[in-house]
Amino acid sequence: MFIPKRIIFEKEALEYEISKEILTKFKENSNIEIIKLNSNRLKQHIPDNELFSQYIEGKKTLVVGTKKSLKFQSCKPSAHYQLPLVSGCMGQCEYCYLNTKLGDKPFVKIYANLDDILNQAQKYIDERLPDITIFEGAATSDPIPVEPYTHSLEKAIKFFGSSKSGRFRFVTKYNDVDSLLKLEHNGHTEIRFSINTSSVINKYEHFTASRDKRIEASIKAAQSGYPVGFLVAPIFIYPNWKEEYHDLLLELSSKLPENLQFPVTFEIISHRYTTIAKNRILQVFPESQLPMNDEERKFKYGQFGYGKYVYPKESIDEIKQFFIKDIEELFRNKEIKYII
Ligand code: SF4
Repeated sequence: MFIPKRIIFEKEALEYEISKEILTKFKENSNIEIIKLNSNRLKQHIPDNELFSQYIEGKKTLVVGTKKSLKFQSCKPSAHYQLPLVSGCMGQCEYCYLNTKLGDKPFVKIYANLDDILNQAQKYIDERLPDITIFEGAATSDPIPVEPYTHSLEKAIKFFGSSKSGRFRFVTKYNDVDSLLKLEHNGHTEIRFSINTSSVINKYEHFTASRDKRIEASIKAAQSGYPVGFLVAPIFIYPNWKEEYHDLLLELSSKLPENLQFPVTFEIISHRYTTIAKNRILQVFPESQLPMNDEERKFKYGQFGYGKYVYPKESIDEIKQFFIKDIEELFRNKEIKYII
């Protein structure tokens, strides 16, 4: 669970029940600074001596606000729309996509006007009828660490559980899923777990759940009948990589229930970076050991018009062969969505 160092309440957010509950929960804790804003000058309350401390202080800040624009972003290819429940994340993964997205103070922000957000989701669902509309709940965040006091996922899962044509999915690197297990999801929410080898997690994914805790949480979700998927990402080639990824998949396959209602899905993504991301990472984590030597990579233009440094073709082929073979051998009811 994310215990922030400071909580900033935007003015209008305090009218909502969820904000009052958060205030009651944390106000007696003398280690947490509570700030109630009178203006929208939020950032001045987050200390910012230099880039690293801006990053760290931002990561320790929770903002409770409201979602003002109810125009949802599209979320292709994984869903039709983003479902804005939370933005930002307490984790400090060196290669996090949020590092370049959230600016120099990457605070966690939760939206108190959840009913407005779900009503808007319903409008989008109605517009696309009779087709199914899929919403992604983790496009700009990891929503699990704040779930114990926002209950946003719980409400969203129940909403989609009773929806005929709306579906929900989110991805996490955390394990705090117990409060979601007994909900009436009706198989309409897919929980994906982002997993990796312990070597990779320990080296680069600071303040996230361990490999085994994520596996344990995924098993609980599968046992509770949720469709479950695994995002194995980012894949790194390093000494013993095949042994360690094999061990990870073996552990998973030995623990997943036999009688899965839905095929377990795999999305396998090899490590890649843009020059902007690399520069940003090295500013925030100057000691980073992430392999980002441009000479060892291939430059590839992506669908969004900017280029990325990916592993050379022979390495990608090796990754593909390895994962296809291992997953085929280890899992029965499964679907490999893509390997890139
Ligand atoms: Fe980013 Fe996910 Fe790590 Fe959070 S857990 S810092 S969202 S990669």
